[in-house]
Amino acid sequence: MTIKTVVWGENVHEQENKIVGDLYPNGIHGCIADALNKNPNISASTATLQQAEHGLTAERLADTDVLLWWGHAAHEQVSDEIALRVCEAVWAGMGLIILHSAHFSKIFKRLMGTPCNLTWREAGERERLWVTSRNHPIAQGLPEYFELENEEMYGEPFGIPEPLETVFISWFQGGEVFRSGVTYKRGAGNIFYFRPGHETYPTYYDENVQLVLDNAVTWAHNSAAKIQNVTDAPNVPVEDAIEKINSRGAKLHQDGEAGFK
Ligand code: ZN
Repeated sequence: MTIKTVVWGENVHEQENKIVGDLYPNGIHGCIADALNKNPNISASTATLQQAEHGLTAERLADTDVLLWWGHAAHEQVSDEIALRVCEAVWAGMGLIILHSAHFSKIFKRLMGTPCNLTWREAGERERLWVTSRNHPIAQGLPEYFELENEEMYGEPFGIPEPLETVFISWFQGGEVFRSGVTYKRGAGNIFYFRPGHETYPTYYDENVQLVLDNAVTWAHNSAAKIQNVTDAPNVPVEDAIEKINSRGAKLHQDGEAGFK
């Protein structure tokens, strides 16, 4: 089975900053998609902010198993309509992988329901990612820890709900720690947040990072059929109750009234 995957890139730094453009000539999203496509079970394409509907039409999302999301400078330029469309796709069963500074994206904040804030420092310091869940599918094939020589620091407290699972905790050279790999389930959708990926460093070329993303796509894929009409809230009229019941007491709604009011 092929996992239909879309890597969404904000694609702003790559266009505006020479360091980032030289590092990722096909965009951060292009680099990630190329790495994922080495896995014959994954078919990865890309979408960007600048495309019509940010490249995420309803038809394309309906045909997407897993979406990866990198954003930083233009979170507010993502339309509310498309952000809600992505959330609804997750509730219906699409997997979602949130990368690095996308912790502040509209979609992640909405799905978490918390500020998702953190402390940070851009000093190119060493990051050491410890695997805290050795048998988790996302950690398969990794050593007990791995290091990135240059990364931005993200530090605790991280304003997220208590995760379903914590797969990685990072230590930074300056002393901070951070929950760098955390999972959630929202509706039928599996969600993974993965911290590394600052735009001025070659993080997405790192073999261990690529393995994590490969594992994460496979883990996030929910092979069950997607839920249709995921936000519907139908009224079940009294005459359709499984056991016969008599309606009694004061009522606000009419029998058989459609939808939730
Ligand atoms: Zn960053």
